[in-house]
Parts: sequence; C-alpha cells; structure tokens
Amino acid sequence: MAPSRTADPLPSFGQKSVTSEPYKGPPRNIKTINDIHFDASLQPTNYKILGTHPDSKILFEDVSILDSTGRDPYPGDVLIEGEKIVRVGNVPDKEKLKKDPKVRVIHGRGRTLMSGLGDAHTHFTWNGGDLNRLGDLGVEKHVLLTARSAQCYIDSGYTMCFGAASAKERLDVVIRDAINAGDIPGPRYLANGKEMARRDGDLVAGITAYADGPEEMREVIRHHVKLGVDNIKLSMSGEEITETRSAQDCYFTDEETAACVDEGHKLGKRLCAHARARDSVTMCIKHGVDVIYHASYINDEGMDMLEAKKTKHVIAPAINWLIGTLNDAEAFGYPKAKAEQVGYQRELDAAIRGLREMHRRGIPILPGGDYGFAWTPHGTYARDLEHFVKLLDFTPMESIIAATAGVAKLFMREQELGKIQEGFYADCILVDGDPLQDITVLQDHDKLNVIVLNGRVHKAGRKEYIAPPVAGQDANYHPIVPDFPEVKKEMQKNY
Ligand SMILES: [Zn+2]
Repeated sequence: MAPSRTADPLPSFGQKSVTSEPYKGPPRNIKTINDIHFDASLQPTNYKILGTHPDSKILFEDVSILDSTGRDPYPGDVLIEGEKIVRVGNVPDKEKLKKDPKVRVIHGRGRTLMSGLGDAHTHFTWNGGDLNRLGDLGVEKHVLLTARSAQCYIDSGYTMCFGAASAKERLDVVIRDAINAGDIPGPRYLANGKEMARRDGDLVAGITAYADGPEEMREVIRHHVKLGVDNIKLSMSGEEITETRSAQDCYFTDEETAACVDEGHKLGKRLCAHARARDSVTMCIKHGVDVIYHASYINDEGMDMLEAKKTKHVIAPAINWLIGTLNDAEAFGYPKAKAEQVGYQRELDAAIRGLREMHRRGIPILPGGDYGFAWTPHGTYARDLEHFVKLLDFTPMESIIAATAGVAKLFMREQELGKIQEGFYADCILVDGDPLQDITVLQDHDKLNVIVLNGRVHKAGRKEYIAPPVAGQDANYHPIVPDFPEVKKEMQKNY
C-alpha cells in the first residue's frame, strides 16, 4: 500500500507574524498540565522502588526551594523521612535533628533543591551508535547496555522516564523491574515493547514488531501487554534519514490506528506514536493516541483538533534529534548539507512553528528527546530544556515545570511525584547554580551535586560523572557498544 504523502506549504495557524517581547509572567503551562486527564482505567501499575529504610532521615539545610508549583524559589529546609518528603520550608526541631547522628545533614549553602527531571521519550535500549545492529546485539550485552543507560539517566538527574520503545521486546520490562526491586540504579520507569510498524513502513528492521491491518496489530499489542509493558509504541510515519520513508509519509490507516487505540485502552495501556507526517498526527488526535511524538507537520486542521482535545494528549517533540542531525551529525559522516537536502531544516522550521503555536494555545508539550543515537548521546538529556527555552518560547520556569510536574502528570502520579512538597516522594536534585537564570546548568553533571531517588541518596558530593561509552571508543574496548567499521556508511544513512 502506498503511504499517504503530504507536502503542504507550512501552515500559518491563523496567526499574523508575531514578534512580541519575551514573556516574563507566571508559568502558562501549569493550568495546561493540570487539565490533562487520562481515563482512570489507563493508570499504570503502581510500582514501588524497594530498598529505602523507613527510618532513614535526610535534612537539606539552607536550600533554595524550586518546588515546581510555579512559585518563585524561596529559602528554607527540607526534611525527608523514608521515601517521602515530610517537611518543606520550616523544619521543626531542626537543631535537635542536626545533632542526631542518624540524620544525614546536607548543607545546601543556598544551592537549588528541585524535583528530579523527567523525560517523556526514553530509549534505554539505544546504544548511541548503530541502531541497525541492535537487532543482532546478543541479549546478554544488550541487558548490560540497557542497565547502563538507566544508570546514565539517574546520573543525569532524571528520576522519571516514559519508555518510547525497546529494541528487544522484554528489555525495558526487565530493567524496569530490576530498578524497582532496588537491584540496579535507574529512574522510575514506564516500560515499552518494540515499536510496531507496517511491513512497508518500518524505520529500523531489527528492532521492529511488524503488523499489517487491524487484527495483526491487535495481536502484537496483546502480546506486548502479556510481556508486562506499560506503554504501546506505534511507528506511524517515516523519517528522512532512511531516504526511503519520508517524514511526510503516513503508513497507518484510520482503521489500524483506531484498532490499536481500542485494543491498548481496553487492556489499560496508553499509546505513543512516532508521528511526523500531517496525516499521522491527525489520526493520533482523531483516534486518541495519548502521547504524540514529534508532530512536526501538524497543519491548521490538526492544530484546531488538538486544541479541542488538549486535555487528552501530550506532545513530546524530541526536537533535539532534528537539531542534532542538522548540527552535530557531520562528525559521524552525515554532513549538514545532506541533512538539509533531505529535509531536516524544513522539518525543524515546521516543528518549531507548530510547537510555539501549541504552547500559545495551552496544548501540553513535554521534554523527552529520543536520546541514544550517535549524535544525541546518552547523558545529554537536559538539552531538551534548553531547546524549550531558546526555540519554543518557554520561560525557564515553564521548561522546568514541564520536565517535573508535567512528566509526573504523564505518569498519572501528579499527587506524589514531580514537586518539592510535603507528602511527595523524595526524588530530588541539589543543583549548584540557578537553573532559572541559566537553564543549561542542568546539563552539567558536575553541578548536580546531590541526586536522591525514593528517599535514597544516589549521588552526593562531586563524584566524577563518567559518560557512557560510544561506539568504537577506547579502541573497541567496550563490549556493549562495539564499532562496526564495515557498515559505518550504512549506519550513517540509517541513523
Ligand atoms: Zn524515539
């Protein structure tokens, strides 16, 4: 079946050219995020992370509290008991607590204490290199690689990640369960299965679950749900780098999309979709795909439809992939001229336009960046927050709220995750700097001085951050990301 291809002129969204002063008011996306409403039947399993002693006490003294409610940061203390934050602002009996040898006291000296970050488009199983070879990577090494990425997220200050596809069908599930059991370090995680594509619409063959037509698609979803996934991934549109499947092509039909949503929701699972093409975005909205990735080529009609249903959808643009492919891929043999020629500049321009308009209309946009490709390496996740500020008209506060309270909402646990408030789980980071003045500070691992997850200290002090290996590094010493020089050219073409 030929895909439906569109190459519309970029839409105006009914706007005259807007050149206003940068917005400086209160965060506009608080209401947007509060208003998101997923049906209660789609609530993910209530995972717990084991291993926190119920009597453990941590006192953060003299910190600048950035609580993700929209309030400006304010000075105070924060007390954590067991897994939860129990006091914020004024901690009673502080002097007594400080003398108690069982209380771990961390002197903030005015540093920023904020919620751990969240990512709405995570691939633990991507190797920072050749995705085509992931299908052939032995399962033993692939487990190591996946655990390594999970650790890299928590090392980078991320405490919530929403899985956006797993290269092997059970990897995400197994790693999620190991994190929750306290066996390996990693963020709270909602696991995905393999991405599902039509046989004429795949992006990377070795990591795809194939299905054509509504019945086979329902079958794949039932299979993944049986394996224990939390989310279902549909790969609906193309991707320019494949050179065979355009980002403006939509491969799914209405019947297929409707069947996937019906089956997924019936089984209590939400769906997310790789949807760059106009028609793929429209189908997601029409049939209720909960999380829409990219959405680059949304048109006027799609924008209006999305606005009307903005409490039902979350957009995660993963815009760093477009930026990285244009600006950072040259070193890997994919020149900027090539990226421009196949359409990445055009797509980036379209995406920025659409996303700004979504933000203006109060449509929820969350960071989450498709990290784990060669030129979007693991550990650089917080670039997304900078892009939101520099390209999408978010204030730094809005960007942080999206990455914290926003991803907590995506987890459907906004009453206990993503904020520095009493009764919330103690997932927090102590930042040496003010991210409201300089959002890029969150990308600097040396400035993430303390990282706490579930009331347990993951990192304290200025422990050196060790970046995960990349393909071919150290003369191929790392077994989990070997280089494949003989296919290098092919790799550059296909991711
Ligand atoms: Zn992705």
